[in-house]
Amino acid sequence: MMICKFCQKKAIIRLPYARLSLCQVHFNEFMVKKVLKSIKRYKMISKGDRILVAVSGGKDSTTLLHILSLLSSTLNIELYGIYIDLGLGEYSEKSKQKVKELFKLLNIEHVIVDLKESLGFKVPELSKLSKRPTCSVCGLIKRYVLNVIALNLKANSIATGHTMDDMIAYILKEFILGNYGQLVKLKPKLEAIAGLMPARIKPLVEVSERESLVYALVNNLPIYHGECPYRPQESIEVEIKSFFNMLETRHPGIKIQFLRKFFKGEAVNLKDVTLGEIKKCSICGMPSSTDVCALCKLIYRIEGSYNRILEFLDKINSIELLR
Ligand code: SF4
Ligand code: ZN
Ligand code: ZN
Repeated sequence: MMICKFCQKKAIIRLPYARLSLCQVHFNEFMVKKVLKSIKRYKMISKGDRILVAVSGGKDSTTLLHILSLLSSTLNIELYGIYIDLGLGEYSEKSKQKVKELFKLLNIEHVIVDLKESLGFKVPELSKLSKRPTCSVCGLIKRYVLNVIALNLKANSIATGHTMDDMIAYILKEFILGNYGQLVKLKPKLEAIAGLMPARIKPLVEVSERESLVYALVNNLPIYHGECPYRPQESIEVEIKSFFNMLETRHPGIKIQFLRKFFKGEAVNLKDVTLGEIKKCSICGMPSSTDVCALCKLIYRIEGSYNRILEFLDKINSIELLR
């Protein structure tokens, strides 16, 4: 029997990179401490911050909200939750139920945005009408809505559940494809742009998917195990993740070493790469690299007018905060 390094009770997980086996109590403690350390290491949060946490119903964002709520008095922060119903069929319906349970369990003030209700389209409809890939439209909508709601709530930052495995996969993918400009965005904290964009933080940046899943399971957190039907079966990210997991079993600790070196600028020198200028969209006022933002352009292409965007903004800005 595997026993916990700290109390000799039955261990529930073995972490080769840390040379530790831990029982449930000590694993929970380990995870909360680990997230707190990452927050400090990358200066993600300041005292008094208002943080909007994007929750999807999956293991990572659920674990994130749970750990942040345990840390909220230590860090002296105010937490708000958001769930966006993207209209992805049964997947959206079931994950929404789980997220509602989670908000209730943790007593988190939150907003639920229903895309069909507020914009008039579900993500698959928008994708069809605009002839753009579903995941690209979906990503665009999520970034947009998170930004609008965070500004409305005067949040200092938006926290997402990206894990160490996600970050490694994104970094290597952009590197392999030669999108070096994208690499500067892949940091544990992207600074805010006053009045336009709150900071974006990734407190699980040093947590693996395996750890986040075990955390959600042993704590009995409400998570939806189903996958989005639009998720591509094969992708560079998925292949990089499995390659790195194979490396990790043979060389424990290699994932975290790689990430820390990357963030320090030792793996790739990002000093000369910049994000490019971020302006205010001349139609909706949201951040954009061009005069008119991507969502305004997309709606214009479908409808020949921007009216729907302005109505959409009014609607989502007046959604009430629930407890
Ligand atoms: Fe959206 Fe694609 Fe993710 Fe589904 S898999 S939630 S469509 S980004
Ligand atoms: Zn123990
Ligand atoms: Zn716009």
